[in-house]
Amino acid sequence: MTLSTLITGAVQLPPETRRLRQEVRDFLDAERAAGTILGRPDSWLTGWDPAFTRRLAERGWVGMALPRTYGGGGRGNLERYVVIEELLAAGAPVSAHWVADRQAGPSILRHGTEEQRRRFLPRIAAGECFFSIGMSEQNSGSDLASVQTRAERTDGGWRLTGTKMWTGGAHINDYAIVLARTEEAEDRHAGLSQFIVDLRDPHVRVEPIRLLSGEHTFNYFHLEGVELAADALLGRPGDGWQQVTGELALERSGPERFLSTLPLLIALVRQLQRTGCSPDQHARVGRLTARLSSIRQLSLGVAAALEAGRPADVQAALVKDLGTRFEGELVNEVREILPVAARFDATRGSFPELLAAAILHSPGYTLRGGTNEILRGIITRGLELSS
Ligand SMILES: Cc1cc2nc3c(=O)[nH]c(=O)nc-3n(C[C@H](O)[C@H](O)[C@H](O)COP(=O)(O)OP(=O)(O)OC[C@H]3O[C@@H](n4cnc5c(N)ncnc54)[C@H](O)[C@@H]3O)c2cc1C
Repeated sequence: MTLSTLITGAVQLPPETRRLRQEVRDFLDAERAAGTILGRPDSWLTGWDPAFTRRLAERGWVGMALPRTYGGGGRGNLERYVVIEELLAAGAPVSAHWVADRQAGPSILRHGTEEQRRRFLPRIAAGECFFSIGMSEQNSGSDLASVQTRAERTDGGWRLTGTKMWTGGAHINDYAIVLARTEEAEDRHAGLSQFIVDLRDPHVRVEPIRLLSGEHTFNYFHLEGVELAADALLGRPGDGWQQVTGELALERSGPERFLSTLPLLIALVRQLQRTGCSPDQHARVGRLTARLSSIRQLSLGVAAALEAGRPADVQAALVKDLGTRFEGELVNEVREILPVAARFDATRGSFPELLAAAILHSPGYTLRGGTNEILRGIITRGLELSS
């Protein structure tokens, strides 16, 4: 891969997405009027609202790229892109189904048995079945192949022991897809497997990790000898590394990697419309918007490549590096453009409160889903392979 192939030309969305976008906007306007959307940053991580998820699902906007045979919408990835970018821009509460829609569903479709597809996919598409990501551990984040969670074979299936960390939503979701070592192997990427674990199993113990804001999103998630039936295994034993890498590509490639703080920019613009805007403020908002627009174009290039079945891991890593840095820099810029005191105890949805939420979430932007140093390694290796 060379630099010129890494950066694709402008992507035109298919014309039929225009109507879809308008339908989503109309739906969001109605929800806003009903007071269900506060336009918060990071709404895909902390905006937990299963009733909102079900209303989206009724319109076919959850699991929309899953096949119709399994209850999905049978729509394309670009259509899904349009829906999720509108939801993110609005700061809509979408965290309940986010992981199930983005990666658990597609992973089960790809690697699951027919029985697993029929059991999970229709419920995901109905907005009734929510998933967590069980990858990271205390000493295994970037170096995921070093996971210590073990699965031993038993007469009926597997016994799972270990502790996962930073597990978003483990206290409220239904299942987690857990990466565990099933065999010792000289090649440390071999001997790993994935399991679908019921988070309400009596041998699963969930312990909160509070965010800087005090919010409860993350958890330790202790697997204390969880007995699993044989059909809890996702894919083939030993294929966990390839499967998890495919899942990470889905996790890293979407517009949530540059739109998490867009609701703050929108709130800033509304604020400036009310108070008036100096030429300097005007120019700075313009620069932020221009950067946003270029990153979006790169991100659409990733979505178009995925839609065409072309590999896009390296482009996705590039967009995530640029996008997550932009998310954090946007927060700092907004603080300089409009020096308002950030206050987490201010009215929910007010500008000082949105600013405080975005600041307190900032440390996570460049860490979650793989740190920027790791992404740059992927980009460099992708470029080296082709030189
Ligand atoms: C907001 C948030 C949500 C998350 N949600 C989940 C979740 O739901 N499920 C889940 O499983 N995990 C989740 N994570 C965990 C996340 O995937 C890890 O934090 C991330 O992969 C980094 O791992 P680590 O924290 O162990 O840091 P480490 O891997 O210990 O890295 C520490 C520092 O060393 C650098 N570093 C490490 N290795 C290298 C290298 N080879 N070259 C250069 N630099 C390197 C890193 O870039 C980083 O700066 C979440 C994290 C955050 C912040």
